[in-house]
Amino acid sequence: MERAPYASDPARTRGRRHPEPPVQMRSEFQRDRDRVVHCSAFRRLVYKTQVFLNHEGDLFRTRLTHSLEVAQLARSIARALRLEEDLVEAIALAHDLGHTPFGHAGQDALNACMRDHGGFEHNLQSLRVVDELEHRYPTFDGLNLCFETREGILKHCARRSALAIAERDPSGVAARFLTGGQPSLEAQLCNLADEIAYNAHDIDDGVRSGLLTLEQVADVPLFGRHWHAVRNEHAGLPQRRALYESLRRMLGEQVHDVVDASAKAIAAASPRDAEAVRACPEGPLIRFGPQMAAASVELKAFLMHRLYRHPSVMATTAQARSVVHDLFACYRDQPDQLPPRYRDREDRMRAIADYIAGMTDRFALREHLRLCGAPAVQPPPLSGGIGP
Ligand code: MG
Repeated sequence: MERAPYASDPARTRGRRHPEPPVQMRSEFQRDRDRVVHCSAFRRLVYKTQVFLNHEGDLFRTRLTHSLEVAQLARSIARALRLEEDLVEAIALAHDLGHTPFGHAGQDALNACMRDHGGFEHNLQSLRVVDELEHRYPTFDGLNLCFETREGILKHCARRSALAIAERDPSGVAARFLTGGQPSLEAQLCNLADEIAYNAHDIDDGVRSGLLTLEQVADVPLFGRHWHAVRNEHAGLPQRRALYESLRRMLGEQVHDVVDASAKAIAAASPRDAEAVRACPEGPLIRFGPQMAAASVELKAFLMHRLYRHPSVMATTAQARSVVHDLFACYRDQPDQLPPRYRDREDRMRAIADYIAGMTDRFALREHLRLCGAPAVQPPPLSGGIGP
């Protein structure tokens, strides 16, 4: 299907930081997607926590499977809205590259360690990974991705950080955080697809772990209405199958809602091209309708309260935080323990943060055992749940 005029066009990219000649057979955004898939930070996502620590069970989402689900949802919606699918895929697969081990607990700990040295934020770190930290090309650091992919990766950015980026990077990738503009529709879409993906898979993982009960989840209208419909239509269906079918319907409802609401918003604003999208005064055009937006907020609040702040999750995240704090202190006090590539950098504290942020959960635990002699974090066994 032909790309819509408001979609990003790989032939009209704002370009790469280091100019490279085009190649045959692949568009600029396909190249970006391929560079992301082949980079080592992408492979490490498989051993990084989404919500549950990576070693708590083999069926829980990891950052890698989460990123694949975001890419799949975002591509479906992109196709329906005639957006640029390759760009969407590149952004979705790269969006979590900067995450620390141990999920948000790891990020909070690293941010605390870096308080006097500029802080730590995973979105900024994702951009650092693709701009600087991957070392695989002979003449530049990073993956040298197109502006549009980098713009999508940098989905949040504090004003202070945007000023710092603007100072050293003439591409303007953080300019919208200073001027109030919007990113491309493809970037807006990945943002929303991220939310749709984790809302659904965290219900699945939460129930699997036994930390959420189906009775609790069925009380949340966005999920509950599908759950009750499935139970009525299929009496005696095993709970696991009913859960999957309910989540499948919930995802479908949200995807259709985004397509409808966004198509209307795009038609009303009628941006002439991708640049007009960036200057659009109506804000993001990729959106839920008002009812679905409220339902999604309600589901997020439920997950925050019942799952992310569950005492069992909090206990393991507290242990994970102490692993990151210990590692940071150890590398700070014994820089010889850092690999030369990090040890030899002048910005020592940032180098330590980059090194720790790149670790997988299990590598961080092994380093902790090696350097601190403390036993690896053993999470309390998860109980209950409704099986695979
Ligand atoms: Mg994500």
